Amino acid sequence: RRDLRHDLTVAERRLGEVEEAMEREERLLAAFISTDGEPDKVTAAVVALETAVAERDRARDVEKAVLADIDRQLEDLAAASSALRDRLPQDVRARYEEAERSTGAGAALLAGNLCRSCFMSLDPQSLARIIAAPQDQLVTCPECDCLLIREDS
Ligand SMILES: [Zn+2]
Repeated sequence: RRDLRHDLTVAERRLGEVEEAMEREERLLAAFISTDGEPDKVTAAVVALETAVAERDRARDVEKAVLADIDRQLEDLAAASSALRDRLPQDVRARYEEAERSTGAGAALLAGNLCRSCFMSLDPQSLARIIAAPQDQLVTCPECDCLLIREDS
């Protein structure tokens, strides 16, 4: 979500810059047309500008549709996340949300000896302790403190 928001901010800033540049060109062209310029060149410039304006308008429509789609997806994800959190036992949920606040992810897969949250390899001693822990016991990464989901559970 953070990455999407960042990309949107960058895209919106760029669109603003393009719009400012086009407005400058429009003012320049208007000033040129009011003088006694070469008629063919003026006509070609007007056509090019009109094409650019139409493309910009289409790009704005696409951007608007993409933004609406992203907002819908974010709302769906937030609703799904909320529904799933409600199904967690209170102590697990509290632990999950604590890890989420500190690492950005509440839980991550333990893939072999690799924590998929911080991508650090667990030392053999920690790995053995985690593997030996009962299935219903919460286990955390010793490096980032994220809840670990064991592949066999
Ligand atoms: Zn970790």
